[in-house]
Amino acid sequence: MTQETGSFAALGLSSPILHAITKAGYEEPSPIQAQAIPIIMAGHDMIGQAQTGTGKTAAFALPILSKIDPQRREPQVLVLAPTRELALQVAEAFETFASQMPSVSVVAVYGGAPMGLQLRALRQGAQVIVATPGRLVDHLSRNGDLLSSVGYLVLDEADEMLKLGFMDDLELIFQALPAERQSVLFSATLPHSIRAIAEQHLREPQHVKIASKTQTVSRIEQACIMVHADQKANVVLRVLEVEDFDALIAFVRTKQETLDLTSALQARGYKAAALNGDIAQNHREQVIESLKDGRLDIVIATDVAARGLDVPRITHVLNVDMPYDPESYVHRIGRTGRAGREGKALLLVTPRERRMLSVVERVIGQKIDQVQLPDAAAVLQARISKLQADLTPRMQAPNGQHKSLLERLTTTLDCHPEDLALALLGKLTEGMAFDVSGIEREYPVQEVTARPERNRSFERGERVERPERGSRERREHRGSPAMLVDQQNRVRCRTALGTRDGVAARNLLGAILNEGGLARDAIGRIQIRETFSLVELPEEGLERLLGKLKDTRVGGKPLKLRRYRE
Ligand code: ADP
Ligand code: MG
Repeated sequence: MTQETGSFAALGLSSPILHAITKAGYEEPSPIQAQAIPIIMAGHDMIGQAQTGTGKTAAFALPILSKIDPQRREPQVLVLAPTRELALQVAEAFETFASQMPSVSVVAVYGGAPMGLQLRALRQGAQVIVATPGRLVDHLSRNGDLLSSVGYLVLDEADEMLKLGFMDDLELIFQALPAERQSVLFSATLPHSIRAIAEQHLREPQHVKIASKTQTVSRIEQACIMVHADQKANVVLRVLEVEDFDALIAFVRTKQETLDLTSALQARGYKAAALNGDIAQNHREQVIESLKDGRLDIVIATDVAARGLDVPRITHVLNVDMPYDPESYVHRIGRTGRAGREGKALLLVTPRERRMLSVVERVIGQKIDQVQLPDAAAVLQARISKLQADLTPRMQAPNGQHKSLLERLTTTLDCHPEDLALALLGKLTEGMAFDVSGIEREYPVQEVTARPERNRSFERGERVERPERGSRERREHRGSPAMLVDQQNRVRCRTALGTRDGVAARNLLGAILNEGGLARDAIGRIQIRETFSLVELPEEGLERLLGKLKDTRVGGKPLKLRRYRE
């Protein structure tokens, strides 16, 4: 057993559960898990306050599964969740964690699915019921004894349940439960109504609160990209092509993901390695040394494995998976911007993680700008610039041997130098598309449509106020054309070079096209004044473009192009 799973072991969990955790690839308990598990194992009632994404499911599922009697085939655990989607997620998590407990089965009970199937699963002796309150009350009205053997009750996202109007249903459920039981309640917030429930239905509950301290991270440029969960790998591949990084560290949640992503990147020719809790100390040091001296450029790590990593070459932190608490976000991005240098941190956010994003923003006390995911045109542009950057120095210092080789080849192959150039380009760029649709096929990605966070009661199913639906969908629809307009937005940039410096529009244009690798039509109006000039450049990818142009000179003088703020 590894040292990290060991820290789960220290919490007193049963051995089938520890095996399941290892299989799931969890290395270390999240803060809420570390605090809640021992309390639940000890048999206390508990109130846990923590935000979304902090790992609450495992915080209650692991100890409860450790404690039930798998041989007793009757309901022993009841988890109440506000919506069908959350109930399904929790049920799935229970199944994962019970993977080494073959006699344990889990049933999800929610509205909108046939009662019959759910009933059958209940009769067959499922030990764990994960339910939405409304549907459970329907079952109770047919079978009042349904919950009489339950010894563990979990109220997950209690505040959401109350917001959805489940108060009365909860009261009915409490009445149907044995008084002799252990109850835990999780909630992001603890309004009066929740405290009242706890007071009435929990016994001397212990409180666990995962507080978030404000931390500052100023030298690091931060941005986030909305992605679909199943497209992260392709988004990562696109990001790596367009970002100009020296060394980069990518964070994922599990060991398996470190391995999967590493092989995907190696297959693309990146010098990448995985860093996770299974990797022995001496190998870990090797990986870090290689990252320091440039034998490696990318490390894919879990939070545990990357702790304390200090490599000044790291210019970028890519958060492929959301950290499970804001503090680890701060730790992660602190891997860049070392020794007073600048760094950049990118965070991939799936639609259901939007709320966690706002929590992180609150903790770091700043807004994380949302940027568009790199489109195929940007990837294409990056490929072309890279090719140019590779070739330019060689053209400036031609090699005599190569010249005679060229002559020899054109003679023996009886071809024009252009034919040879084409063949060489083909070889040089093997397996890489150089057109937008080819790149689209290479890394297919769908944009997440921009919309304000949906009302969860609407999104997730039960007890929905129907009249809202139409208006919301219309609003969403209007969102997308606006995005397209945004993509073509240009912003004005300023340079201190003007006619006084002998600069004309075509000089600026030439410099920006060549060094920035932009297409001509990407550049808007250019205005030349005596002491300065303004150039309209595409908003998308602007920082990257300005980065590329940072050492560009025009007429021998530094261009120093900056975003112009009117
Ligand atoms: P919450 O209920 O607090 O919103 P979840 O329980 O849904 O959070 O967990 C969020 C994600 O984090 C899930 O994908 C889960 O598998 C993962 N996760 C939870 N605990 C750990 C851990 N200790 N190590 C790695 N991943 C974890
Ligand atoms: Mg949850």
